[in-house]
Parts: sequence; structure tokens; C-alpha cells
Amino acid sequence: MVQIEILGGKREIGGNCVRITDKDKVILFDQGIRFSVFKAFYSRLIQPLGIPELRQLRIIPAVATYENIETIYISHFHLDHLGLLSNIPCETVVKLPSLRIYQALEEGWRMSPSWPVFIPPRFFVKTEDTIKYRTDKNNVIAIPVSHSAYPAHAFIFFGSDETILYTGDLRLTSIKTVNQILHKETIFKYLEENTDIKIDKLIIEGTNLGRPLTPIRPNEAKETINRLFEKEKLVLTAIHQLDAESLVLIASVAKTRRKKLLLASPRLAKILEALYSATPKIKCVLEKTVVLEDTVKESTILNRISIGEVKKELSGYCMVTDIARLDEILRKFEPLSDELVTAPVILMISEPSDEEAIFDIERLTRWLSLYGLQPYNIRVSGHYYPYELKPIIQKIKPKEVIPIHTRYPEYMYALSK
Ligand SMILES: [Zn+2]
Repeated sequence: MVQIEILGGKREIGGNCVRITDKDKVILFDQGIRFSVFKAFYSRLIQPLGIPELRQLRIIPAVATYENIETIYISHFHLDHLGLLSNIPCETVVKLPSLRIYQALEEGWRMSPSWPVFIPPRFFVKTEDTIKYRTDKNNVIAIPVSHSAYPAHAFIFFGSDETILYTGDLRLTSIKTVNQILHKETIFKYLEENTDIKIDKLIIEGTNLGRPLTPIRPNEAKETINRLFEKEKLVLTAIHQLDAESLVLIASVAKTRRKKLLLASPRLAKILEALYSATPKIKCVLEKTVVLEDTVKESTILNRISIGEVKKELSGYCMVTDIARLDEILRKFEPLSDELVTAPVILMISEPSDEEAIFDIERLTRWLSLYGLQPYNIRVSGHYYPYELKPIIQKIKPKEVIPIHTRYPEYMYALSK
């Protein structure tokens, strides 16, 4: 008999952890960090001592969570889902959404002077690529979903007496270019085409429920970004390092507005290189992309360009940088020319800080105002909007709904009826 235990993410956003037992088989979906608790105990000055302390404070899953575990499936790389892999106490396999992208991220974590150093796993844990659209030996199949971290997967588990769908984090729509380039077929299309798959239990996130929202969809964001582009000005954009969907969206606007994409972040450049090998189609929107040599030391696939060259024709570029590093990048452009001072700054912050921590919008705004730069917040949520829950349920038609990653599970029960 299939047994589901929601070990993290019950009535809270963050710390997703679902343990599924079926006869002698045990698997785990996600094993995230509970940032709501993390933030209550730690700051820049007080850092975690190590895994035992984090376990004691119940910020990461307990040792018992991993008992008899066969495989751990990670839906995407947001840390409230990936968690700290060094917490895994036993020999096991961890399926990651993309091993290449993970490796690009891991380099930075291993060198971190603080807690991200606990993210990489111990030597006895084996990391593997998730194979999409194919049922594995545990009877689990991974299907892509649209989210603000790429790639992201939902998982279907075909148990002995029940079929379970765990959505991870997801939104309902994306723009056409993004779909063509990044997703072959997302979960809704997959279920539509495979009518024989009937879901008994749907474990679905409800992040946006009860939050004040401006329900902007990706195509509306595209329109707004297009409006902010000016022919005679540089455009500055900042995204989260994992948000490849936003990167493609910005690139597609830049292409139609005849601006070259200028990458100014070593982390983004590294992830883009990994994306090039994992998703070759991405080349068609990023073919004219160049990287700023003052920020990216080397690149095997992208041409490098100096600040001096960029300054000669500022209006020809749309600069994309890591949201956590924008203030740092601006310093490199000093003294700012008139052309730059009035450039629009498009901030694409998909998720609030409680899911991934440690980004300070107020500090960034202060820096921008110091330079006379106007920020525009284009916030496309990585999660579906509450009014979209009913259509989602109608598409999936589950026998039962199990809410996760939400502060208001009772809203979800009510909305899903
Ligand atoms: Zn997420």
C-alpha cells in the first residue's frame, strides 16, 4: 500500500520534503531548507555551526527521514527544495534536474565561506541526471514544469495501488519562445496526451495563496519589458541566476529591438555554458550574446568584450546580470555617462526572499538611486495564481488533493473543489 508522509512544507512555504513508502520501496521528493526557521535563528553575523545544529533546529530533515531510502528526487534547484545534500547520512542516489547545471552551481557553493558549503553531498552519495519522460526502476517519471528555476520537474509515482503526482513548484503558463526552446512538453500537455494515467493523489504547491498579488503572466511581462526598451539607451536587466525562462524572455525582446545581449555576471555565464550543452536550442536566442570581460574571466562559448568597447555604443546593448550582483557591476561603469544615468533597470525578481533567502532589495534600490537609475519591478511569479488552481485541478482530475508549500492549505481544499 502506498503511504505518503509530508515531512516538510506542511502549512509553510519552504522545506518541501515528501516521503513515499510502497511495500519495501522508499523514495523522497525534495529535501529542502526551511528558510522561515533559518531566518529566525541566523543572520550574517550568526551562521550555522554545521549539519547537527541545523537538524536540531529542524531546519533540515531528520536522519530518520532517510531510513531505507532508495532514491531522492529533486524537483528544482531552489534551496527550499534541493536543501543541503551533505545532510544525507547514507549511501543513496540523488536525481538532479540537470547534472551540468548542478556542477556549475556547486563550484560556487564549495568555495563559499558560509553555510552554502553544506549544499554539496558527502562522498557516499551518488548524483545522477533525471531522465525526463521515462519511467525509471522505481516507477517514477519526471515531466518538466514551468517555474522560475530551470529546469524544474514534476514527478509521477506509479505505486502498487495508487498513482501520485508531486508537482514541485510550478506556474501554468510561459511564453511561446520559452516553451519552444526550454520545454518539450510540460505536465499538463503530457497528461492530456496520456489519458490512461489517472492521478489518485495530487501533492500540489500553493505558494501564492493568501498573498497580495499582481497576477502578471509571462506574455504580459514581455509586453511591459518591450515598452521599457528605448532605442537610444542601454537597458539594464537583473535576474536570478537560475531563471533561464526570464533570460530567454529578455533575449527575445532584445533580439526584436536589435540590441545585443551583454552578460555581466560570472555565475550567469557559467550557468549559460551548462545550458548550452543541456539545451542546445537556447543558442538561437543567445547567438549574439557577448560577455563583459571585466566580470567574466573566461568563456568557451561566448565572445568577451571590454567596458571601453561597450561604452562606445551603450545603446546597442541590453545588459543582463545576476540580481544579487547588480550593485557591484554598476561600480565597474563609473563614472557613469549621461546615457547610462537614465537607463531603465528592469528587475525580474520572481520569488520573494523567503524561498531562497538572502537578497536585499532595499539595499539595491539605495545603490540604484545613488547612480540616478530608475528600477522597474517586473515580477512574474514562478507559481500559478490562485484563480488558476481550479483549471489545474480540472486538467489533472485527481481523486484527492494534498496541499504543500502553502500557508493556507484550507484555502486550497476550498478552491480545488
Ligand atoms: Zn521554487
